[in-house]
Amino acid sequence: MDDPRVKTVLQAYADRRDQAIREAEGRRREALERIPGLAGAEAASRLAGLSYARLSAMGRLEEAKAWKMEQEASLRNIACLLQEQGYPADWLEPVFYCSRCRDQGYLPNPGGAPSPVRCACLDQRIREEIARSVDIRFPPEHTLAAFDETLFSPEADPKKYGVTLSPRENVRWIRKRCQDFVRDFADPACRNLLFTGPTGTGKTFMANCIGRELALKGYDVIRLTAPQLFDRIIRGKFDGDGTYQDILDAELLIVDDLGVESQSAAKFSIFYDLLESRNRTEPEKICRTLLSTNFKMKELVGFYDERIISRLLHWYDILRFAGDDARLTLSARRRECPGS
Ligand SMILES: [Zn+2]
Repeated sequence: MDDPRVKTVLQAYADRRDQAIREAEGRRREALERIPGLAGAEAASRLAGLSYARLSAMGRLEEAKAWKMEQEASLRNIACLLQEQGYPADWLEPVFYCSRCRDQGYLPNPGGAPSPVRCACLDQRIREEIARSVDIRFPPEHTLAAFDETLFSPEADPKKYGVTLSPRENVRWIRKRCQDFVRDFADPACRNLLFTGPTGTGKTFMANCIGRELALKGYDVIRLTAPQLFDRIIRGKFDGDGTYQDILDAELLIVDDLGVESQSAAKFSIFYDLLESRNRTEPEKICRTLLSTNFKMKELVGFYDERIISRLLHWYDILRFAGDDARLTLSARRRECPGS
């Protein structure tokens, strides 16, 4: 229930319910002014209801039953009084969007208080809220199914691309690895990923696909560029605002553009601590990291210190993206064939 999206939905339910009750109160005040016998009928209904509840609790069921009938008669009387004046019989009742849970989000117990059982309408609203928040962070068109491998050359050229497979076969294999990562995400054996390779070879797209699919499944996904990451951690440590802990605890942390941050011993130390903290072995806690860099592995080795490189090599599966810049291929294709 700590998910802020669930809190947002529950707050909307509370507001909606308050409004329905306020509006019913307004209608009731107006009806009381216009219908002379209504106040008396309501008082009789209240008295009968209270007597029924009190006697039921005392186990005096026969007497309670008589009061129950009295209450039902009073309610019928109220409905008649309303209808005589041209109002609907249920004019005084709050109008809720969901009649099952009365906009509480949880099904009522027999006594009327909400039970811990979620109403279907609340599940549906939470799903919608999660989808909305995911669409804001990850483009809806970035899905593994929509990935266009034809943007990558089918010709192998190890010297040019740095991989033995053709860029198309290579990216097909990477997509399969990404699908496996999403499928096995909750499995304690699921390994972290490190994307390397030049710009325009699909790293951002694949990271978006993974982030989107896991966020839609309800996992807590944080995505930052490396400069944002270091900035937030440094500020979070000073401010003590919980940002640092959120980054440490995210079920999936995606860090883009690793290596564009300025080099400093303090940042290396932060990064090393982050890698260590996120390499938790508690099996019940999901804590995976996806790092992405335009560097080749040997450039990363030159950029970070030995301890960091050793952690990356041990704890991360390295997926090496290769090929020409797919964005250029795509825009050339659009120029040839406008509207595609
Ligand atoms: Zn409901």
